[in-house]
Amino acid sequence: MAIATVNPATGETLQTFDALGEAEVEERIARAHAAFAQHRATTFEQRAELLRRAADLLDEDRSEIARTMTTEMGKPVAAARAEAAKCAKTMRWYARHAAELLADEHPASDDVQDSGGSAAYVRYRPLGVVLAVMPWNFPLWQVVRFAAPALMAGNTGLLKHASNVPRTALYLEELFRRAGFPEGCFQTLLIGSGAVEKILRDRRVAAATLTGSEPAGRAVAATAGDEIKKTVLELGGSDPYLVLPSADIARAAKTAVTARVQNNGQSCIAAKRFIVHTDVYDEFARRFQEGMEALTVGDPLEEATDVGPLSSEQGRSDLEELVEDAKKLGATVLCGGHRPADRTAGWFYEPTILAGITPQMRIHQEETFGPVASLYRVPDLDAAVELANDTPFGLSSNVWTEDPAEQERCVADLQAGGVFFNGMTASHPGMPFGGEKRSGYGRELGGHGIREFCNVTTVWHG
Ligand code: NDP
Repeated sequence: MAIATVNPATGETLQTFDALGEAEVEERIARAHAAFAQHRATTFEQRAELLRRAADLLDEDRSEIARTMTTEMGKPVAAARAEAAKCAKTMRWYARHAAELLADEHPASDDVQDSGGSAAYVRYRPLGVVLAVMPWNFPLWQVVRFAAPALMAGNTGLLKHASNVPRTALYLEELFRRAGFPEGCFQTLLIGSGAVEKILRDRRVAAATLTGSEPAGRAVAATAGDEIKKTVLELGGSDPYLVLPSADIARAAKTAVTARVQNNGQSCIAAKRFIVHTDVYDEFARRFQEGMEALTVGDPLEEATDVGPLSSEQGRSDLEELVEDAKKLGATVLCGGHRPADRTAGWFYEPTILAGITPQMRIHQEETFGPVASLYRVPDLDAAVELANDTPFGLSSNVWTEDPAEQERCVADLQAGGVFFNGMTASHPGMPFGGEKRSGYGRELGGHGIREFCNVTTVWHG
C-alpha cells in the first residue's frame, strides 16, 4: 500500500510520501534506544510537564489537525475536533495520575516476614522501546492512548502508522518534539507493513502494541511470540446492543444510531448487532430506522454532516460484499443498502439496517466496518445472551435494561471486555479498554494500560 494522503470524499491523491530506507530506520531505532537510557532516568514530574505541554499544543492546533484527519480518512470534522480534545484530556490524565498508578506496591508485611524477609516491594520499571502499529480510524486517539501512558512510564515509542494517514503521523512526531520530549522519545516511521517484522526482531525493540485487523494482529503477534516479546492487541469487534423491555426505547433507538454510525461506522467499539426483545422490537425498529434515515451523508468537512465516506475504496467494497451476501440469502433491507445516488466521487455508503439475519450470512460472523446495522429479534434474555456471544469477537457490549437482575446476568455472562448499560460503549482515560476472543488481549488506558509495558519487579530484602 502506497504511503499517501488520498481524500476519501473525492478520491483525489493529495500527497505521496517515500518510505524510509533501511539505513534511516536503523538510525531511528538507535535514537529510540539511546533516548530510553535518558528518559527512564527522568522523574514522573519531569515527564508530566512535557506531556502537559503536548496537551496544550494539541489544544491550540485542534482545528487544523482535525481538518488534516478529515482530509486523510473522512471522519466528520466535528468528530475530529472532539478526538483531538479527548487526546489532550488523556495526556493530562496520565500526567496527573502516572506517579500514583506506578507507585511502589508494598505487600502485607506479615507475608514478607512469614517468608523470612525484612522488607519487600514491587517496582514498575519501563520496558524500553515499544513499537506501535496503528490504524487510520482514530488517527490521533489510537496513538495517544498508547503514547501518553508509555512515555509517562519511561518507555520510548516508534510509531508505524497506517499508510493512509501520513500527515497525521508526522504531526504526532512533531507534537511531542515541540513539547520538549528529547530527540528519539517518540518517532514516526513512514514505512509499509512489510518493514515491521525486521524492526520487531531488533533486540533494541522490547515490545509491540497493535490496533487493527485480525491478520495484522496475527502477523505481529507471531513475530513477537517468536522473539518472546510482549504484545498488546486491540483488534476488531462486532459488539452486541441488547434492548430489553424495561428500557427507555426512544433513548435506546436514538443512541443506537450514534453507536452504529460514529466515525462513519468504522469503529471497533461501534455497536454492530442490535439484538432486541420481541416485546419492544417493532417500536425499536421503527425509531431506529427513522433515526438512520434522518442522517446527513456528505462532505465530512461540512459541519452539518453526520456520515462521511468510508476511508478507502477497498473498505467500501468489503462492506458492499457483506451486504450483498446477506441480501442474496434473504435479509430484509429496512433502509439504505446501497451507495448514495447523489455522490459519484468518493467512497460513500448509505446508513443501512438489515433485518432477518441468519447464521448462514457472512455478516452474522464478520465485522461490518461501515454504517451497516444487523437487527435481530429474540424471545427472551437467554436467547439475547446466547446470540450476543455467538461471534468470534469479544470487544465490548451494550445493554439497555433497568432491571438489576438482568444487569447482573449480563455482567456475568457476556463475553466481552466491557458491558455498558443504558448508554453506548466509549473509552475513558481512567477505565481499561480491550477485549477477549479474537478482539485481542491486554488492556489500554487506566492503570491496567500503563502497566502493560512495565517490568513488574519484585524487590526483596533478606
Ligand atoms: P490493517 O489491520 O491492515 O491496518 C492496521 C495497521 O496494521 C496499519 O498500520 C497497517 O499498515 C498495519 N499492518 C497491516 N498488515 C500488517 C502486517 N502483516 N504486519 C504488520 N503491520 C501490518 O487494517 P485495514 O486498514 O486494512 O482495515 C481492514 C479491517 O481491519 C477493517 O475493515 C476492520 O475490520 C479492521 N480494523 C480494525 C480497527 C480497530 O480499531 N480495531 C482499525 C482498523 C481496521 P498499512 O496501513 O501500511 O497496511
